[in-house]
Amino acid sequence: MEILKLGNPILRDKASSVEVFDENLKLDVEQMLSTLESAKGLGLAGPQVGIEKRLFVIIIDDERWVFINPEIIGRSDDKVRYEEGCLSIPGYYMDVFRPSKVKIQFQDINGKMQILDASGLLARVIQHEYDHLDGKLFVDRLDEKTQEAFFKSWERSIKHPRRRP
Ligand SMILES: [Zn+2]
Repeated sequence: MEILKLGNPILRDKASSVEVFDENLKLDVEQMLSTLESAKGLGLAGPQVGIEKRLFVIIIDDERWVFINPEIIGRSDDKVRYEEGCLSIPGYYMDVFRPSKVKIQFQDINGKMQILDASGLLARVIQHEYDHLDGKLFVDRLDEKTQEAFFKSWERSIKHPRRRP
């Protein structure tokens, strides 16, 4: 699967719920997992590969996670800083503040409802991918100054691809 890059309008759309849990869904999820694996990323959301559905996959330490129709139903009060990157914004890594823990409700590949308490890296990646389903990217969460500098640098890298970091 091709991973869409910042600038593609699909990345800014709100994704719609998964209604049908069939073989096609399983195939999409399998392909997303192998795309994520070959890209050596931690998470990949449907919209990043042109699937405008509320689902994302995560691979951390060879453990594979599939979240369908996720809903973050709890967030810790404490926020932590962590350096994020995104397969749709290659070459850029920046610190983002987010709650350290989340409680997430979602459906598994068979449509069964699940609830998970996540912390650490998993909580971080969940929140990053969850944003993708609402057309939001991690660079939207930077402070104004950093964000401005980022977008300038990104525009330059598009116009002069050789200078891309
Ligand atoms: Zn991302």
